[in-house]
Amino acid sequence: MVDSKQQPEKVLLVTGASRGIGAAIALQAAARNYAVVVNYINHRDQADEVVRQIEERGGNATAIQADVSSTNDVEALFSSIDSTFGQLDALVNNAGILAPLARVEDMTADRIQELFSVNVVGSFLCAREAVRRMSTKNGGSGGAIVNISSGAARLGGANDYVDYAATKGAIDTFTIGLAKEVAGENIRVNAVRPGFIETDMHDLLGMDSKWRFEQVKPTIPLARIGSAEEVANAVLWLLSDEASYCTGAIFDITGGR
Ligand code: NAP
Repeated sequence: MVDSKQQPEKVLLVTGASRGIGAAIALQAAARNYAVVVNYINHRDQADEVVRQIEERGGNATAIQADVSSTNDVEALFSSIDSTFGQLDALVNNAGILAPLARVEDMTADRIQELFSVNVVGSFLCAREAVRRMSTKNGGSGGAIVNISSGAARLGGANDYVDYAATKGAIDTFTIGLAKEVAGENIRVNAVRPGFIETDMHDLLGMDSKWRFEQVKPTIPLARIGSAEEVANAVLWLLSDEASYCTGAIFDITGGR
């Protein structure tokens, strides 16, 4: 249940919140008294289900369709937040995609461009719109941004998805740079690097995800796959005032891998 004593309500946008890690972040945020914008691209039914669960528990949420890699869609998404809520206090750049396992020598330009468009350009566009609204320089009252990177940014993704890993390396650098750029404007920017987390995303690799999980488990010191809720725990902490002296930080949530 939402604790009605935790006032005032803050507004959080979670991109790609219809499923997986984004949905877990949206649900936990609502329980901590955020009004949540549940962004999605294709799965309206699943986004609606996240909203339904939040409302059932007494929270406030709305689902908004937008492709984060489209400037027009992102601008319309933020305009819609302006008209519905009149404020934005926090952003989680979570929407992301993978492509089937491939070596670099076999990757097409289209594939690489799509990954960078969604994972990197999408995060830049959403952060741009958020900073325009949150920055004290622009008349806002500040806020917090959390970018979802990946343990792959450190490991490189050799033979599997070097392109995906490189998009997340870009997210790490983006986090450090943007954090410094807006630190004096009352905006904190941090990132988390999840390891192997049980979500639908692994289906995009073009192989049986259960088999893959069994293959990687022995390489994980905590010897198990993580849950979306475990990632959400760290994200909610980074968004909160408990992390008030934390900016430009990148947290591994990888089971020690
Ligand atoms: P997921 O289960 O595949 O969910 C992806 C979400 O992103 C869905 O809500 C999807 O919307 C949305 N989405 C995809 N493309 C979009 C676009 N162009 N515009 C807006 N929304 C879009 O993924 P996940 O595993 O939760 O991953 C979430 C984030 O964590 C990603 O950034 C991913 O790289 C990162 N991550 C995941 C893992 C892992 O092991 N799962 C590990 C490290 C990092 P629809 O439902 O409408 O398609």
